[in-house]
Amino acid sequence: MQPVLSIIVPCKNEESSVLEFYAEANKFVPAESEFVFIDDGSTDNTAEILKNLSKNDNRVRYIILSKNFGKEAAMLAGLSKAKGDFLVIMDVDLQDPPDLIPQMLQITQSGEADCVATRRVSRKGEPIIRSFFARIFYKVMRRISDINIVDGARDFRLMSRKYANSILLLGERNRFSKGIFPWIGFKTKWFEYENTKRVAGESKWSFGKLLLYSLDGILAFSAKPLAVASIIGILMFLASCLSILFVIVRKIMYGDPVSGWASTICIILFCSGIQLLTIGILGQYLAKTYTEVKARPHFIISEEI
Ligand code: UDP
Ligand code: MG
Repeated sequence: MQPVLSIIVPCKNEESSVLEFYAEANKFVPAESEFVFIDDGSTDNTAEILKNLSKNDNRVRYIILSKNFGKEAAMLAGLSKAKGDFLVIMDVDLQDPPDLIPQMLQITQSGEADCVATRRVSRKGEPIIRSFFARIFYKVMRRISDINIVDGARDFRLMSRKYANSILLLGERNRFSKGIFPWIGFKTKWFEYENTKRVAGESKWSFGKLLLYSLDGILAFSAKPLAVASIIGILMFLASCLSILFVIVRKIMYGDPVSGWASTICIILFCSGIQLLTIGILGQYLAKTYTEVKARPHFIISEEI
């Protein structure tokens, strides 16, 4: 049987949410659907629960990864293994309301859009600091990259087979879905909803992890930081020309008293700081290039059904 809809669900340490998710989602998906759960290196009972689930319901498939590869890799694993004509990616914590699925499916099935994406209109229940930095990130990202990354966009998307296949064409290791989706194009319709709390368990994202993820996003979708580094270099060069001129003029007009040691040190520190910063930016791109060149697989499957 060719499933109409594949529900792709990455899970990491979600023993407390899986069953509730399955029960809730089942109410809203067509009978000819398949569930594709990806166990992303859980250290709790998630894998056992998934295996049991698939014993009781042959529409449930699971992919157990050999370790934690991260949500991006887990989603990719799901997308590459799902067989449905339409595919939807969902979090297992019920923060993505399954009751939107029928409407989303109807829109893609009718051909009105190739993808129905969702965004949250509020960041209620989230630490203020986190929302603040998230807003800044989206602003910066929109300015420095050519793609339009939507603020508050979730990974909760329902897409056509054509759309999913296009995502699979992008083999990059440094995966940043929030950029990949807009990059591939196609007609996308947006749904908005209020943020809800997780049903159980806790968020896998710490502030530090989010920060690194946002840097990944910038590096993956923009080369502007390199341009910024060059511009800083040029400005510094001009500034040093001016100061050399200033020193020469001062020498000619007032002789050369030995003073200004402190300011010299300041300038040296300032310049070497800028140099390190720009080398660091270069290094980041080099490091990303290094991982791409190694071309390791995105994930390794230990067991699947
Ligand atoms: N997840 C995953 N691998 C990871 C981290 C998270 O598969 O390394 C899954 C997690 O089980 C959940 C989804 O990704 O289904 C979203 O994670 P979470 O709810 O922690 O993120 P948030 O909603 O706080 O952004
Ligand atoms: Mg969540």
